[in-house]
Order: sequence, then C-alpha cells, then structure tokens
Amino acid sequence: MPINMDDGSLKIFEGYRVHHSTLRGPAIGGVRYAADLTLDDIKALAFLMTFKTALLGIPLGGSKGGIKVDVKKLSKKELEKLTRRYTAEIINLIGPDIDILGPGLNTDEQTIAWMMDVYSMQKGRSVPSVGVGKPIEFGGTVGRKEASGTGMFYILQALCDKLNFDKTSLDIVIQGFGNVGMVIAETLYKNKCKIIALSDTKGGIYSPEGLDIEKLISWKLAGNFIKDYKDNSTKAITNQELLELKCNFLIPAAIENQITSKNADKIDCQIILEGADGPVTSQADAILNDKGILVVPDILANGGALCVSYFEYIQDVHSYFWKIDRVNREMKNILLEAFERVWELSKERNVSLRNAAYMIAIDRVAKTHELRGLFP
Ligand code: NAD
Repeated sequence: MPINMDDGSLKIFEGYRVHHSTLRGPAIGGVRYAADLTLDDIKALAFLMTFKTALLGIPLGGSKGGIKVDVKKLSKKELEKLTRRYTAEIINLIGPDIDILGPGLNTDEQTIAWMMDVYSMQKGRSVPSVGVGKPIEFGGTVGRKEASGTGMFYILQALCDKLNFDKTSLDIVIQGFGNVGMVIAETLYKNKCKIIALSDTKGGIYSPEGLDIEKLISWKLAGNFIKDYKDNSTKAITNQELLELKCNFLIPAAIENQITSKNADKIDCQIILEGADGPVTSQADAILNDKGILVVPDILANGGALCVSYFEYIQDVHSYFWKIDRVNREMKNILLEAFERVWELSKERNVSLRNAAYMIAIDRVAKTHELRGLFP
C-alpha cells in the first residue's frame, strides 16, 4: 500500500487479510497494526477465530487482518490514509455477508469508523455492519469495549464456584494493561479481589498486599508506564519475573507467546486465564499440563468480545439497539454455557480444558462440513 507521508515522501506498507473459514457463516476477525507482524501470525489468529466462533455457537467463521507498521511512527493523518488504503485494497474480501472487521492490537473504534466509511462510500450507502467495535454514535454497541474483561470475570467466577475458591482471597497477577488487562483488573478490583502484580510493555510492579487499581488506571491513562508507579508497598519487576510469581490466577492479557518452553517450568500459579490470544505456546501447554496447572484457553476465556461483536452486528442489521443489561446477560449465557460444556467434557474424557474446547469446536465445524457436503 503506497502512502504519501506528511514530509512528502512515499512509503510502501504491507498488509494482510486472511479468511480461515466461512463454512458456518460470514467470517469475523480483528485488524492489528504491528511492526513485527507476519502473515503466519495472521493465519494463526484467523484459525483461532474459526474455533472461537464455533465453540461459542456463534454462526460466523474466522478471519484476521493487519498491517506491518509501527503506529508510533505515523501521524494521525498518515494512519488514517493507511487505514483507508488498506480497506480499499481488501474491499472485495469484506462485507456483512463475507467478512466483518473488528479492532485488535493498536487499532480502535476510530480505525473501524474509517474502514466503515471507506466501505460505505464504495457501496453508496451506510453499511455499519461491515465492522464491529464502532463508536456508539453510529452503530456501535454498549458494552463492547469492556466485553473481554467482563466475560473473563464471569469465567473466573464460574471456575471459583467449581473449585470452591473464595475469589476475594486469591492472589492474582495480570500481564498487560490495555483494553483487556485494564477492564479485568478494574472488574476484579471492584469485586474486592487482590491483584498483586501488573505490567505493560516496559515492565511491572508487585505488591503482596494488593495494588490500588483505580490509582494505576489514572496513572496509565495519564501516559505513564506501570513500572514507574511507586507507593509504600510496591516494587518494580520485569515482565519475566511477573510471569513467574507465585499466585492463584495468572492472567496473560498482553500479546501471544509469553509462556513458552523456556519459562513454563518456572510458572508458579494454579490457574492461567488466557486474556490475550495465544499467550501460551503448545510446547508450554504440555509442560503446564504436567505440572497440574489449569489453563483456561483463549477461545473460551476472552470470548466475551466476540459475543458482543456478534451482538453489535445483529443490532446493526436490525437497526435496533440493546441496553447494557441485555448485552451482558446474553454474553454471560453464551460464555457460561460454553464453559460448562468444556468443563464437563474435560472431566468426562480426562483432557485439558484447551483440548476439550477444541474437541467441541472442531466437532461443530466438521459436522457443518458433513451436513453441507461437497459442491456440486
Ligand atoms: P492493547 O493494545 O489495548 O493492550 C495491550 C497491553 O499489553 C498494553 O498494556 C501493552 O503495554 C501490553 N504489552 C504489549 N506487549 C507486551 C509485552 N511484551 N509484555 C508485557 N506487556 C505487553 O490490546 P488489547 O486489546 O488489550 O489486547 C490484548 C490481547 O487480547 C491481544 O492478544 C488481543 O488479541 C487479545 N484480545 C483482545 C480483545 C479485545 O476486545 N480488545 C478481544 C479478544 C482478545
């Protein structure tokens, strides 16, 4: 994608859009902007979306897209041009009946607003349902921004009920303090849970007595790094140290490949709740399993955002908007039903929660294949 930069130079950017499956309905998937993005990342993330939609029983397929770009190096004008050009390049691959766009790493509701505008201008009419995670002002839904964190909280509560844990007496560690990390941290804090460590790209802080999340949100939103926050009980730690802290729940909510074969044997928690997509590699997964650490897989744990994205799409198509109570109630129903099935199958077949989740999801995709048969 050639872009005229603010200084008059011309730069070429590379971007991708991958459809993994449209078997069960139009695909849905986020768009991420990252300097080290590869086509393989996007393929893997599109694959995850297919099985996330299938596991949650949402009649959509899986896709993902992105641009290889360091957003910090672009002005807002350049970012807008790049986003618009990217949308124009993939215009024949997207649409409410083909593939629905959503925000992801380093993209937000403004990105989706520009994309929806390009698509609508080409079609000659407003088509809000081409993207989800839009501003509330035109076709966005209440509860979307908070959905991942809110959904993770429902799953954490359900897990505590299964294991007879009192959630207020747990030590919780969270990696990442963006959209997902901040909402789950805030929700846990408001529910009197204790978060003992938290981090962002530059590192984190640790306090055995528990962190004041409200103060940390203000600190972060003011543009500061978590590691620079100080009060009487906090100590700065690296992201690696944070992952290895002894705790009940570890919530990786930053990026993929954080727990690998290199550090899996040092992980000292009881349960990992995957907020990010793919934070645990498959080699690490096997090590964690041997250590008896329970891993709630991403396709279940962070599925709240997908549920509410789907609700946004439905609301756009019907031009009828729901109240927050309905959004959260319907999300909770979908997530808890999926959690229950995964939990039961994992017990019944003596497999990990991840394997159980994939068994259910793959079975649904395979059954659709069987029932649809082969064309012609
Ligand atoms: P975000 O950009 O808002 O936040 C990411 C956070 O992680 C930031 O605080 C950043 O500083 C931190 N971070 C980045 N690299 C890090 C590193 N190497 N070590 C420690 N911290 C690091 O992104 P987000 O929307 O919160 O998404 C986070 C993850 O959750 C991604 O894997 C994304 O695919 C997944 N996810 C997001 C949503 C959503 O609705 N936003 C839904 C489902 C899954």
